[in-house]
Amino acid sequence: MTQKSKIWLSSPHMGGNEQTYINEAFAENWIAPLGPNVNAFEAQLEDYLTPKSYIATLSSGTAALHLALVQLGVTHGDEVLCQSFTFSASANPIIYQGAKPIFIDSEEQTWNMCPYHLEQAIKHRLEHYKKPKAIIAVHLYGMPYQVEKIHAIAEAYDIPVIEDAAEALGSTYKKQSCGTFGKFAALSFNGNKIITTSGGGALVCKTLESKLETVKYATQSRDDAPHYQHSQLGFNYRMSNICAGIGRGQMEVLDHHIAFRRQMHDFYKELFKNTDGVKVFEEPNGDYFSNHWLSAIIVNPEIAGFTREELRLKLLEENIESRPLWKPMHLQPYFKEALFFGNSVAETLFDQGLCLPSGSNLTDLDRERISNQIKLFLK
Ligand SMILES: *Cc1c(COP(=O)(O)O)cnc(C)c1O
Repeated sequence: MTQKSKIWLSSPHMGGNEQTYINEAFAENWIAPLGPNVNAFEAQLEDYLTPKSYIATLSSGTAALHLALVQLGVTHGDEVLCQSFTFSASANPIIYQGAKPIFIDSEEQTWNMCPYHLEQAIKHRLEHYKKPKAIIAVHLYGMPYQVEKIHAIAEAYDIPVIEDAAEALGSTYKKQSCGTFGKFAALSFNGNKIITTSGGGALVCKTLESKLETVKYATQSRDDAPHYQHSQLGFNYRMSNICAGIGRGQMEVLDHHIAFRRQMHDFYKELFKNTDGVKVFEEPNGDYFSNHWLSAIIVNPEIAGFTREELRLKLLEENIESRPLWKPMHLQPYFKEALFFGNSVAETLFDQGLCLPSGSNLTDLDRERISNQIKLFLK
């Protein structure tokens, strides 16, 4: 029997005009990490965010987080508070700067940074060491974190927040865009994100000066001189004009992608509505608007009578990809020395959670295969 085509968790979905912008770059020989596509893509992103913000497009979301830490002066001997339940790219740039991550557990509503444990961690570090230099809070799976509570604590202790909005382009909290709450925010356009430039990212900045400073860091920190002169450490992190051409085409279909991903979320809600012990991850209330980058479920094996792993393997038989939720950073071998504040919320999410196919390019036939296989399993 030939194998059925693979249904991916989230795969690139071109809108149609990407190639046109790339062809323009070739025609005009703008094959460089600057050019008309970079400027146009940045302008589109700036207009898209509410309130309008300043954007520096970069080679990756990881590079964006790194340059945020660099500009906040994070260095050897510093500590940075970071959500534990996330992708490793949220935390790795802390290490690049020679600083230490302090991991914070999640709360159960948004699965993001728990305000209570954040404050406990700050108090502990003030008493035993010194004030942490920054807070990295993540809008995981597109779900906004508890914006008001997290930022109230950050303000009370005067610690800047870096938003990791890599998964949350198009998500909002009380109609304000994710990516505009922090001192800086990182976006990602990696291959599996809601829009892609094949690989790429951006740093959202509060002012034009801050954007220009980010671009300077990202282009080897060249001073204004006819020769090559450098007064600070530089990085080679700028986005290429080819990748930005893909980004321009993707911005034209971003809202469509979001609408479709939200439909996938409704599809799973319908599918599991009568299954005890399975909870589809959703917004806590109307203040939250998630782009539902990935739809996810929590399987409580005691009530459901099966584990998320059993469901994952059943889907795999039909060549349908699904994946456990992020493994928390404080449980990763690499970060085993790091401090952690919290209980077992993130750990339980990892044990019981599963991400399901959520791409904006899934067809009716794909949905039918997913639905049939899940129904077969539940029977
Ligand atoms: C994808 C992602 C990143 C990193 O973005 P890249 O563009 O892949 O470097 C950072 N944080 C989170 C939560 C992500 O999902």
